[in-house]
Amino acid sequence: MSSVFLILIDGLRPDALELANAPTLKAFRARSSYTMAASSIMPSMTLPCHMSMFYSVPAARHGITTNTFTPLARPLPSLVDQARSVNKRSAFFTTWDGFSALYKPDNLDFHFSFHYADETGAFRLESDELVTDAALSYLPKINPDFSFIYYGTTDSAGHQFGWMQAGYLKQIEYVDRQLARLLPQLPTDAVVLIQADHGGHDHTHGTNLPEDMTIPWMIAGPGIKQGHEITSTPVSLLNTAPTLAHFMDVPVHGQWQGQFVQEILE
Ligand SMILES: [Zn+2]
Repeated sequence: MSSVFLILIDGLRPDALELANAPTLKAFRARSSYTMAASSIMPSMTLPCHMSMFYSVPAARHGITTNTFTPLARPLPSLVDQARSVNKRSAFFTTWDGFSALYKPDNLDFHFSFHYADETGAFRLESDELVTDAALSYLPKINPDFSFIYYGTTDSAGHQFGWMQAGYLKQIEYVDRQLARLLPQLPTDAVVLIQADHGGHDHTHGTNLPEDMTIPWMIAGPGIKQGHEITSTPVSLLNTAPTLAHFMDVPVHGQWQGQFVQEILE
């Protein structure tokens, strides 16, 4: 089985990818099966979206509608929990502690989490370098079956400068340079999914506007069609866990509502 990587670029709009100088992301798309019209979920906010990605259910089912975690009324296993059930090891490289909502306690093997704030407590736009550094340093040592690599500064720049504004596009270029460092170091047979959780408009997101709800979803690896635009399957956040589970040889849970995106297979 290949090792599987989920790389999340928070608040990345697909139309921003066209405006930014992002050669690494564009080269990745060219060798992936992709759609620039995948759907987020409502509310289009970071934690509710990640819950839907990892648990493959909408917010009406997982019940998380803000960035504050509350225990699930009707618990179900996440991708990380399903991986543990068949002795697969998972690692998170993130800049936010809120992601402990994405697995049951003890089911995550490694969590490298950085809160890199300036003297006022504001989140530094250089934070994603720490994520890349940690991934490059530790992945060869720990060799996880599943890795979640989270780049959060694009969302911060969107809130600070406005979505699609120069400062936001510049931050996409910064993340693109992180990917230029990271991607060549991943195992050659890795399956890599790069996607966003939600988009954004003005200085915010969370609504059902297309600007908030439309996200890129691009997956590459052995046996996956290259340069294939996914058109037959409507892709949403709910497809992420079952699709990654397929490549991890991890069982899909019966309560997950999304499907494996079959059409990406060669
Ligand atoms: Zn945000």
